[in-house]
Amino acid sequence: MEAEDLNQLLVRTDSLTQLPNRVTFREQINCAIKVAKEKNTQFAILYIDIDRFKAINDNFGHHIGDLLLKMVSKRIQSSIRTSDIFARLSGDEFCVLLTPWLTQNNIEDVIDKIKFQLKNPILLPEEKLSIQVSISIGIAFYPEHGETYDALVQHSDTAMYHVKNTGRNSYAFCSLELVEKNRRKQEISIALQEAIKHDQLTLVFQPKANISTQEISGFEALLRWKHPGLGAIAPAEFIPVAEHSGFIQDLGVWTLRKACEQLNIWQNQTDHPYTLAINISAHQLHQESFVQSTSDIIEAAGVNPALLEFEITESIFIDQPLLIREKIIALKKKGIKFSLDDYGTGYASLSLLTQLPINILKIDMSFIHSMINNQTHRIIIENTITMAQALKIKVIAEGVETVQQLELLKTYHCNELQGNLLSPPLSSQEIANNYYTTSS
Ligand code: C2E
Ligand code: MG
Ligand code: MG
Repeated sequence: MEAEDLNQLLVRTDSLTQLPNRVTFREQINCAIKVAKEKNTQFAILYIDIDRFKAINDNFGHHIGDLLLKMVSKRIQSSIRTSDIFARLSGDEFCVLLTPWLTQNNIEDVIDKIKFQLKNPILLPEEKLSIQVSISIGIAFYPEHGETYDALVQHSDTAMYHVKNTGRNSYAFCSLELVEKNRRKQEISIALQEAIKHDQLTLVFQPKANISTQEISGFEALLRWKHPGLGAIAPAEFIPVAEHSGFIQDLGVWTLRKACEQLNIWQNQTDHPYTLAINISAHQLHQESFVQSTSDIIEAAGVNPALLEFEITESIFIDQPLLIREKIIALKKKGIKFSLDDYGTGYASLSLLTQLPINILKIDMSFIHSMINNQTHRIIIENTITMAQALKIKVIAEGVETVQQLELLKTYHCNELQGNLLSPPLSSQEIANNYYTTSS
């Protein structure tokens, strides 16, 4: 082979799998667009991502990860026609270009074939491993979901992410609704980058109280974002976007710093032992320097770590549970307490409670809201409270809105309540006026 040919091959081929790479795939899609335009036909692209590939890499090492990628790509290739283009875009992300005219049924047949090929575990005899692999697939059609390479890849990727967010190991066709959702996410993602710099973020604080005495125990810091053009955007919308883009790291640092500075100001007014809870995203705890950077921020703000509570959710323990446990224990040694937030929305496993190094459990408001009319939920709540307390875990009911809910929770001996019945989230000034003023 001539040196020039060899060079071309290297530039156009993925060295691990020998599949066409991103450069080649782009060219092929551009050709397909040209042909489809001339002939007035459509084609489809499948965006394929291996489920939990990061965990495979983390648990077994990159060598096994690479072997797996090779084997998976071979199995996928054997289930598509030779005329279809199958490429590796990056990491564990693959794309298939299916031409020419295809219906949803045809595509579902192709997906069935791929799934069939992946039905049996991948055997790596030399490593004495057998790994079961599943994949998530997003599908976009030309021209319906995009008329350029970038739009098509992006929209099939959006459909694939929709699958990831709704349970993995499946497929989804792109839709105009998904495209719109994606556009909104991108808009928010871009706007969020400027939010800290342009002073658009604030913290509000929601009180928590002892359920029988109504005595205030502390507050939870909650982010608020007001964009000049987009208006007020709820954390439920922008936190997942920040997690996806990685901006959550900057946002997390900003929130922790602001919350600690605020606690320090309040504490200087009067020395009430009110705690301050801060929500911590799983992505933050997975960052290598989290323990150190957190400790630095707390120390710089001069607050007592024993007044801080970090609220985490069960999803934090999916990847690298042992490492996460170690980090939590390191921070607990400094005095910080840990709460398990939104309990009941994830795996809600009672046995998990025995293994987690947490101090507080917050029952999700969806259970509190339904408990008056739903006997099963009442049983779950009562048993969760009993079990948690037996493990010396304090229980907080979130989103308590009615006296009826409060009275029922009292009979279950729930420790604390939070919710609009007690108080909605308040500004720092309102908290200072209502709870930190010195009685002279
Ligand atoms: P969360 O941590 O479970 O916070 C409680 C949410 O319930 C807050 O919504 C609060 O305003 C709302 N809430 C409190 N009482 C009631 C009530 O009686 N009725 C109803 N319907 N709602 C009530 P918010 O502030 O919109 O926050 C939503 C979620 O966004 C939070 O849920 C938390 O997961 C996340 N979040 C908020 N701030 C931050 C932050 O600083 N960092 C991170 N990572 N996540 C945050
Ligand atoms: Mg919370
Ligand atoms: Mg919650």
